[in-house]
Amino acid sequence: MTSEFREQLYIGGNWVPPASSERIEVENPYTEKVIGHVPAGTAEDVNLAVSAARQAFDGWAGLPMAERGAALDRLHTALAARAGEIARTVGLELGSPLKIAQAIQAGLPLAVLRGYADLAGRPDEPETIGNSLVVREAAGVVGAITPWNYPLHQVVAKVGAALAAGCTVVLKPSELTPLVAYLLLDAADEAGLPPGVLNLVTGTGPEVGAAIAGHPDIDMISFTGSTATGRAITRAAADRIAKVSLELGGKSANVILEDADLVKAVKVGVGNAFLNSGQTCTAWTRMLVHRDNYDEAVALAAKTAAGYNVGDPFDPATRLGPLVSAAQRERVRGFIERADARLVAGGLDVPLPGTGHFVAPTVFADVDPDSELAQEEIFGPVLSIIPFGTDDEAVAIANNSKYGLAGGVWGGDEHALAVARRIRTGAVDVNGGSFNPFAPFGGYKQSGVGREMGRYGLEEFQQVKAIQR
Ligand code: NAD
Repeated sequence: MTSEFREQLYIGGNWVPPASSERIEVENPYTEKVIGHVPAGTAEDVNLAVSAARQAFDGWAGLPMAERGAALDRLHTALAARAGEIARTVGLELGSPLKIAQAIQAGLPLAVLRGYADLAGRPDEPETIGNSLVVREAAGVVGAITPWNYPLHQVVAKVGAALAAGCTVVLKPSELTPLVAYLLLDAADEAGLPPGVLNLVTGTGPEVGAAIAGHPDIDMISFTGSTATGRAITRAAADRIAKVSLELGGKSANVILEDADLVKAVKVGVGNAFLNSGQTCTAWTRMLVHRDNYDEAVALAAKTAAGYNVGDPFDPATRLGPLVSAAQRERVRGFIERADARLVAGGLDVPLPGTGHFVAPTVFADVDPDSELAQEEIFGPVLSIIPFGTDDEAVAIANNSKYGLAGGVWGGDEHALAVARRIRTGAVDVNGGSFNPFAPFGGYKQSGVGREMGRYGLEEFQQVKAIQR
């Protein structure tokens, strides 16, 4: 079993001591005990990592596709051997219930990396437009900054695509969940990735994140996190016109039309809203229900939420774990406290386990579409139900958001598809269509810029060159 007490950074193909002896402690959000620590990196460490990535760039970008594919294949094999350890680590540092930790927190990044190893191994056919030969080239040295909610998936979505495209990477994972990123670097070390191709600098956002965002020798920043931080990173990158891709927040609507399978739509909808304790950027946090079925839907959603097992992430019966931190719990409790709507499940007075940053699965009905509850990303297990009368009204409410990341529509197939096409978001699931890790993923409006996953994600890390003949 690997240690949760990590003393080093990974730079230029070696484990190296950080410039400062300061550390960041990692807390288990269920036991509220410190379970490990990582170095608090500094701008000096970032400089070293960027120069290692720069040195490695020409060689890595110049490798034939098949060789990059083979290296990613080895990385996938080494990471897959750690699947159990990945699930355990995310269970410990994030509090993900076992089933989610195994299926999503470990399973999803492995599937995504497998996909990028395959894509990298395929020759890139140049395109011909008139007298131009259009070729794709690696964007350069990439700074990858990631959040804590799907801590390995978000890292691999960037690192897999960037490496497949021929970029080299300096990675800064979230300071709340940095341990699982070490397992990726252990795997990279074992797989023998060329030195400098993938570098790890752990640390805080204001120190290491800001140093990456503002670094003159980083060509592109790929960021996932809050819209506020996305804005700060874009400003820092603007001075040197660095390319920026952003995966930000969401406030997605689940539209349940009058001809929907109501029971399925509500049950799946509640599950989606509360996945990972509601700490999911694509969570369907607004449930929009046709007036004809509204009372039945509210009763069913309340009953479903109240039936969720809340507790120890390592107990197989647990459906809902704690939130990641005390600060996050207080933030979520604040939204519940200020809510001006009808509470039908959960709230602040429900008994909860003795330790852990828990918030009870909470459902509000009759939520005003313009209220804070319906407009702000809460990032906790809080669902808002809103009635509507017509398709036009449902579409208007769904699109009444500064965000545009995801959503769901339930109804007769043609009816639901027609409504789905009117929703201004990067993804919509019709009648429970499941998440596809190879389809483009990203946001409209303040949910982001650019796409991740599959070929679209890889192309984000490329430049396009036209050669005229
Ligand atoms: P956050 O923005 O606080 O932090 C994300 C990362 O940015 C962390 O690594 C952090 O250290 C770093 N950071 C913080 N300040 C920085 C700065 N000034 N300069 C550079 N880096 C800085 O977000 P979080 O709390 O970790 O994650 C939650 C948010 O992420 C939610 O809003 C959620 O919606 C969003 N999210 C979006 C997606 C998506 O794909 N669209 C996926 C997951 C999470």
